[in-house]
Amino acid sequence: MSVLEVVGIAASHGLLQAVRGVDLSVAAGERLALVGANGAGKTTLLRTIAGIHRAASGQVRLDGRELGAEPAHRRVASGVALVPEGRRLFASMSVADNLRVATSAGRTGRWTFESVVEALPQLKPKLKSPAGSLSGGQQQAVAIGRALMTNPRVLLLDEVSLGLSPVAVDGVYASLAVVAREGTSMIVVEQDLRRVFAVSDRIACMLEGRVVASGDTTDMTRDEVMGHYFGHRAAATAGDGR
Ligand code: ATP
Repeated sequence: MSVLEVVGIAASHGLLQAVRGVDLSVAAGERLALVGANGAGKTTLLRTIAGIHRAASGQVRLDGRELGAEPAHRRVASGVALVPEGRRLFASMSVADNLRVATSAGRTGRWTFESVVEALPQLKPKLKSPAGSLSGGQQQAVAIGRALMTNPRVLLLDEVSLGLSPVAVDGVYASLAVVAREGTSMIVVEQDLRRVFAVSDRIACMLEGRVVASGDTTDMTRDEVMGHYFGHRAAATAGDGR
């Protein structure tokens, strides 16, 4: 059974329809990459799943339970965690306090302060440092760690490699590989298709607010995904939301 099911989700910014009837599902331990050009609606979709942006219509189900109008903090408590674009850490608070803040979600499980630090070893020497003093890659690790502290059923990651050096991106994805091995489901928004093919089980391509194609990573080619990216192949497969 799917951990997360998104059924017919639509979301707007004022009069602009940013997400137009998206269907998606993510199985236990599955990594789904969400790709598409700037403005395709990826961030709005993740924020809508997380309950930060209100859906105009459609449903989000977690383990078969419809989340309805549950606000963002309730969704975190239910098991939906978002690592937002830009990280949004408490810059003057220590790394340890940034992680501990997430225990207020009240979910217990495999991830504790100790196991998060073990999975993200680059944080160990920095626990007492203000989060704002860390490098971009280290800050991204804190953001991932903070999300893990809520013991999510599904982790939503929005452009985690944005603005990081290639070495830092390697570090972030190495951390995510550890998380994936622990069975946490993920939706990853990523612009770098090489990374997408390296880290995901399934790919969904968004164009102008819709999922225009999706499939197992092993069944798709980079050229195919690039074609969907710019809409060249959209006409042939429109409506294929899975
Ligand atoms: P990017 O990779 O640039 O973040 P995206 O695929 O994540 O793109 P969104 O950020 O979800 O796309 O944007 C979808 C559409 O909604 C775009 O047309 C964008 O201009 C618009 N949009 C996004 N945020 C807002 C906002 N706060 N107010 C008004 N329009 C917005």
